[in-house]
Parts: sequence; C-alpha cells; structure tokens
Amino acid sequence: MSVYPWQQNAWQLLQQSRTRQSLAHAFIVSGVQGLGLFEFSQQLSAWLLCQQPTPQGACTVCKSCQLWAAQSHPDYRLLEQLSDEKTGKTSQVIKVDQVRQLIDFLNKSAQLNGYRVAVIHRAETLNINAANSLLKTLEEAGAQTVIILLTESPLMLLPTIRSRCQQITFNVPSAAQSEEWLQSQLNSQFEAKLLLALSEGAPLSALALPQTAWFVARQALLQNILEVMQKKHSALQMSQQWQKQLKAEELLTALQIMLADIMWCKLGQQNAIKNSDLLPIIKTIASMSATNVILAQQKQCLEAYHLMSANIQPNLLFDNLWLSFSRFAHRG
Ligand SMILES: [Zn+2]
Repeated sequence: MSVYPWQQNAWQLLQQSRTRQSLAHAFIVSGVQGLGLFEFSQQLSAWLLCQQPTPQGACTVCKSCQLWAAQSHPDYRLLEQLSDEKTGKTSQVIKVDQVRQLIDFLNKSAQLNGYRVAVIHRAETLNINAANSLLKTLEEAGAQTVIILLTESPLMLLPTIRSRCQQITFNVPSAAQSEEWLQSQLNSQFEAKLLLALSEGAPLSALALPQTAWFVARQALLQNILEVMQKKHSALQMSQQWQKQLKAEELLTALQIMLADIMWCKLGQQNAIKNSDLLPIIKTIASMSATNVILAQQKQCLEAYHLMSANIQPNLLFDNLWLSFSRFAHRG
C-alpha cells in the first residue's frame, strides 16, 4: 500500500510531522479531479488508525487494519452528501445534522485507544450552518483527533475554516511523471500520451477515460461529421442519432476537442492535436474546411455550453451545430 507518485512529497511531510509529534488536527486536501484525493484520504486514515504504522503506510495486519479492511472501523467516520431514500437523488449539501453527529462521535473516546479520524468528502458542499458548527470542533479538536476535508474547490470553503486547517494541495503532475505512471498501468506509451492529452493531464481521469462513452465514440463521431460535410447523411438525422448516443455535455466536450484538433491541423501544428490516434480523418476534415468556418463552429459550441447551463433545450442547439457541419466544406 502506498500513495500515488505525485502524492509522495505530501506523504513524507505528514510522516515527518507524526514522528515529531506535531501532526495537525485538521487538513484540507485539495486538487482537481483525477488526482486521487479520496484515495489519499483513505491511505492517511488507515495509517493514522493503524496500531503498528510504518513510514510507508498502515501495516495491513493489526486489529485496526483488519477492521479498516472490513470497512467497520469504529473510530472512523466519512461525511458526504446523503442520497434521498425514496428518490435516490443525492443531496446538494452536507447538512448541519450530519456535522452534529460527527461532533458527537469526535467527543467520545476512541474505541481502540488510538486516533479518531473523520473524512469530509466534497467539503465545499457543507452548507453554511454545517460549516459554522464544524468551526468550533476544528479549533478545539482533542489530541489524537484528525479531520480531513477533501475538496476540488478550496476557495469555496469559509475563510475561517481554511485558516484552521493545514493545506495539502495536489497539482497536476509533470507530463513526464504522469506518463511514466500511466504507462506502468497500460503498457503503452502511445495510449498513455493520448489519454493524458484528452484529460488535461490528470492521471486517474486518463486511466478511466477508455470506459467513457464519448472516448469510445470519437472515431464514429468524426466519421459522421465528415459524411454530413459530404452530404451523405442529413444533418438533422445525425443530430437526433448522436443525442440518443451521448449525454449533451459529453457530446459538446467531444466536439470542442475535435474542432480544436481540426484547427491545429489547419494551422500546421500537428503536435498539439489531442486525438492523435485519429490523425488521418482530422486531416481530411481540415483540408476540406476553411479557418473562419472552424472558428465560427468553435464559437457556436461555446455558446451552446452557456445556453445549456441556462436550461435551454439541447435539441435545437445540436440541430444548429449539425446544420453548420453540413455547410462546413469549401464550395467550388
Ligand atoms: Zn495496522
């Protein structure tokens, strides 16, 4: 068991603090999606609770580690948005009652005589009352109590909460480090580069990308765009078909990355192309279209994003995008 390579520095600092007995009582662990914040919190929790911790992490064999592995450790709590029992919908916020229960737990003594650990997942969703009732606990957390707040948006936490916590920030690792790690998972340098380019360099997002619908559909989507340009398909038919196949946001994401690639190709910057496995078809489309038309289509995609977040029905937006593709090719 060990943390990801891009988390090693933070881990070593925590380990040194623990050796010096100067470990903080509250942490904010932050970073963009795909860097493994939750996984880090789990390693850290298991290590704090472990009865024979090593510098690398929990021992995995002591009584505490067995309870941890069985997901029934009495001195650990995870706080997150709850799902409604009837509708199954996840709540937008973490409510004050949940924080009160957590405080009760933290005020009792540990059952295994060690640390008590609480992880608050998506801490930015603490509503104002919940955040305020957490404040006092953060300030007065007893010895051997650790509270770990996880968030992709640390600036959305109350300043009073931020000032009471030690900050651990994960940045997107260097291209070399991400690539090395991803390559070790996939055994393919080409695939590692492709996936990282398409996921803004976040290694865990890159690893999960092959399971996403839009990644799988990329080639067919480009093929259909080409066929609409060549008038082999009706734009409105394609619009309907693709709205059934992909979620609106996914479809827009895919289209935006593809249009950017077509533009890079047009500008002779092939190294910047993200869908590097689809180069031949991207070249064909680029050779058939003019720069100003590609630019206009990129703008239309961006506008579609804004309109969708304003709850405009996506049908019309996609119909227009596909109609524009049908007029994409050079005339004469
Ligand atoms: Zn252990």
